[in-house]
Amino acid sequence: MVLVVFLLAMVNPVRSAYRDYLMTIKVDLSNIKPSNFIFDSVKESDAVAELHWGPYNDWKNGNKAQNANNEFFRVYNDNFNEAYRRDHFNPGITADTFVHEMFHGTPKTKGFAYAVDSGIFQRGSQQLDVSPLLNLANVKISMGLSSFPNTNYNRGMAFKNADSFALTTSLPSRLKTNKQAYLQNIAIMKAALKNANHGYINGQTLVKINIL
Ligand SMILES: [Zn+2]
Repeated sequence: MVLVVFLLAMVNPVRSAYRDYLMTIKVDLSNIKPSNFIFDSVKESDAVAELHWGPYNDWKNGNKAQNANNEFFRVYNDNFNEAYRRDHFNPGITADTFVHEMFHGTPKTKGFAYAVDSGIFQRGSQQLDVSPLLNLANVKISMGLSSFPNTNYNRGMAFKNADSFALTTSLPSRLKTNKQAYLQNIAIMKAALKNANHGYINGQTLVKINIL
C-alpha cells in the first residue's frame, strides 16, 4: 500500500529523514521573525506563499547577524486572506501553509503535486482533495514532457514533494484527540486506491483535516 507506506509505516531511511525534516522545520519556525516576511499584494501568483531559497539558506546557514533580517518568506496577501476567509478563519490551515513552505527550505522539497481545494468549505474543518498526492505516490502523474507524455514521475518523487510531507504532517496532528477522524481519512484513501485498482484516481479523494 503505497500511500500508507508513505504516510506512516514508512521504511526506515524515509522515516528518519522525515523526522530530521520535522526537527529542522520546528527550529526554523521558532526562529523566523516578522522581518523575514514580505507581504506582497501583487496579484500575479496563484500561490498563497513562497519561500525564497537563497536568502533562506543564508539566514539558515550563513552569518547569523548579517542575515537575520533576510526577507525569504513571501506571503501573497490577497490569496492568503481569501483562503483564510473561505475556510472560515481556521488557524490550522495557516499553520499548514507555513509547514508546507518550510519543507521547501532545508529539506529542499519541490512542488510536483498538491492537495487541492475540494470546493466544500465548512466551519471547523478543512476538506481537501488528495487524489493528486496519491497519484504521485502511486507513479501515476505525468512529468508533462511534450516528447514523452507517458513518462511519469517515479516513486521517489513523493519523498521530494512538499505537499506530500505537509499532508503527512497535518493528517495525524489530531491523532491523540480525534483518532476516529484520522482512521477515517486513512480508510478513505485506502478505498480510493482500491477503487481505482491501484491505477490513476480520477475522482476526488476527500480527507478532513484541521478539525477544530
Ligand atoms: Zn510549495
